[in-house]
Amino acid sequence: MLIDTNKCVACANCVPVCPMGAIYVDPDIGRARINQDECVECGTCFRGMSQEHLNPTLVRTVRKLARLFRFRFEPEPDVCPTAAFVMNELEMPRLVRQVFSDPVVEHKSTGIKGRGTEEVKTNDVNPRVGVGEVGYTIEFGRPGVGVRFRDIQEMTLELARMGVQFEAKNPISHLMTDKSTGHIRADILDEKILSAIVEIKTTLDQVEAVLGAVEEVNRRIDTVTAVGISTRCDDSGEETQLAQVLEDLGYGAERAKTNMGLGRLTNAEAA
Ligand code: SF4
Ligand code: SF4
Repeated sequence: MLIDTNKCVACANCVPVCPMGAIYVDPDIGRARINQDECVECGTCFRGMSQEHLNPTLVRTVRKLARLFRFRFEPEPDVCPTAAFVMNELEMPRLVRQVFSDPVVEHKSTGIKGRGTEEVKTNDVNPRVGVGEVGYTIEFGRPGVGVRFRDIQEMTLELARMGVQFEAKNPISHLMTDKSTGHIRADILDEKILSAIVEIKTTLDQVEAVLGAVEEVNRRIDTVTAVGISTRCDDSGEETQLAQVLEDLGYGAERAKTNMGLGRLTNAEAA
């Protein structure tokens, strides 16, 4: 995202809109700027504000005159008065910022919409998590925090060393150069995004080690993580093994969601 300095009148309306705190008014030039290293290309500033098309010179003159007479001329708070934002065409590697951060942009780099796959939430259409297996979602980042691929790779390297299985259709898996080692494309490692989800599965006996590894890596990376965990119930709809493991680890497991396996395959690509 860019700000056209010829149009910007430094009203600062956009500063609180950015979920990454990447926009600031530069006092040296009297215009708003975007910290390009922190900007995750989420598009919130561009779409979240009304764009008016006032003449920038006129607005600056009125604001200067207003200051002289000690009153203020400020546009409505949810408006960029001069339509100064420019959504530039992005290419790889920066494009990954947009596809992982802008909810209206498809994952062109991976061919998948959204941060994770639908099946990881339902296991409803195909038997992705089989009997005796455990599925995990490891979510990185939040608005205001974000995450760099280098930190995600710290986790995937550790998980790969433990022999977990990465979900092939997951967007992060698509960006791996080697799923057996957990390496992610080198050219995107410094790119920052709002959030991402890694999807893996293991056998039940690996749960303790995996959760321990996630906790350990989480301490040394510069972001926040949240873990979701799932498994299959038996024929009577009960599940005791995973719940017991989690309880033994002190997690106080509650069943959050039960899927009945009633999904049907309507789009082979999306399954
Ligand atoms: S809202 Fe528009 S005019 Fe105001 S500081 Fe931001 S970019 Fe500049
Ligand atoms: S695109 Fe998103 S992260 Fe970048 S400046 Fe705009 S609101 Fe901030």
